[in-house]
Amino acid sequence: IVADAGYGSEQNYDDVLINRERIPLITYNMYRKEKTKKYKQNFFNTTNWEYDEASDSFLCPNGKKVAFQYLSKRTGKDNFTRAFKVYECEDCSDCPLRSQCTKAKEGNNRKIYYNEKWEQQKAYTKQQLSEKETGKIYGKRKIDVEPVFGFLKANLRFTRMSVRGKKKAENELGFAFMAVNLRKYTAKHANGATNPENNLTKKGSDHLSMMIGTFFRYFWLVMSQPLFIQ
Ligand code: SF4
Repeated sequence: IVADAGYGSEQNYDDVLINRERIPLITYNMYRKEKTKKYKQNFFNTTNWEYDEASDSFLCPNGKKVAFQYLSKRTGKDNFTRAFKVYECEDCSDCPLRSQCTKAKEGNNRKIYYNEKWEQQKAYTKQQLSEKETGKIYGKRKIDVEPVFGFLKANLRFTRMSVRGKKKAENELGFAFMAVNLRKYTAKHANGATNPENNLTKKGSDHLSMMIGTFFRYFWLVMSQPLFIQ
């Protein structure tokens, strides 16, 4: 299942992997940033800290142990619960790097909230996206999907629904996609008409283009009207 970075969340990965039993080819917000030199060389980034599995702890840039303390769960506005492993530095007082490392109040140590499942999901997705076949499928998204929305928004100025309710919105969008498909159909036939011998076809396609424009304008006018007149 292919989607852009805005959809790369733990909840969506869960849905794709568990409910739909598919591979998520969906990047997450930090996907590109994680590949940069700056990110990889940032000392204060916990992903760059040395980790010791036996003691389940990290080593911070000041050489202090940041060990696992407890598990924490948080439920967001979306009603989805995320689980975190909470790590805490043994002693941040008098650390010369403190101002660069943490915003924790004076007297408090730096804490890390580590979401194990999310990290595994990200690693899995990254692996899938780096493979030739799946990477190719993801690359096609830009060509297949984006131009349709670009055309709808920029050329047909379809930037918002004029109806409410899922069923009505589906119908309205269906009409809009129909207009896009008709336009594609026209363009295809117009290309075949560059040969002067096919002039008739070209005239026909110009005519069809006008029809689509008119159809869409009328459709828009109708859909913009209130449902009831009092
Ligand atoms: S602030 Fe704490 S965690 Fe950060 S470098 Fe200093 S001792 Fe380590």
